[in-house]
Amino acid sequence: MRVLLVEDDRMIGESVEAGLRQEGCAVDWTRDGVAASLALRADTYDVVLLDLGLPRKGGMEVLTELRARHAGTPVLIMTARDAVPDRIRGLDAGADDYLVKPFDLDELMARIRAVLRRASGRAEPHLEHLGVVFDPATRQITQDGRPIALSARETAVLAALLERPGAILSRDQIEARIYGWGEEIESNAIEVYVHGLRRKLGIGFIQTVRGLGYTLSTRS
Ligand code: CA
Repeated sequence: MRVLLVEDDRMIGESVEAGLRQEGCAVDWTRDGVAASLALRADTYDVVLLDLGLPRKGGMEVLTELRARHAGTPVLIMTARDAVPDRIRGLDAGADDYLVKPFDLDELMARIRAVLRRASGRAEPHLEHLGVVFDPATRQITQDGRPIALSARETAVLAALLERPGAILSRDQIEARIYGWGEEIESNAIEVYVHGLRRKLGIGFIQTVRGLGYTLSTRS
């Protein structure tokens, strides 16, 4: 999952970025509204965490521009406790939810999962394919009811594939789901993670589509 974090407060930004990375998210952090708008035009994000009081361009303007382009990217606004009018304006301008600062990281993750479920039209919180079940809340994976131990990166690759069953994801698309800006990507990293997933979930669970990328098997 790729997250755009828009926050000019260094302490809040650092703690949210670290927390999201620990959960296996790719995080791009911009510290002003102009950079946020540029990032939203250049990249595709699963969710945007948007502060409203920002240098160069306010968060409300960033949000209004995004929705004017009919981009449906889920947006959570982050506001101060006493900023009720801002929250109302933000929700009216197309934000999907809001968080009151300071917020708990567990609550942030739960709200992200909820807006992603709504965005994808899934009421069911688990992702499942041929007996492999991923619970985004606990990041635990089971196969036919048995727990499977995966690394954070392997989990992120598997989640990217489970989110779009039937789709072929290129190596670049998978990398974009699991790495944020400035994170070093080893050239064969995705192959290594796919190899690890096949070893743990069965050789045929992830299929290679030559020249295109990877997809989940359609047969058990
Ligand atoms: Ca701010």
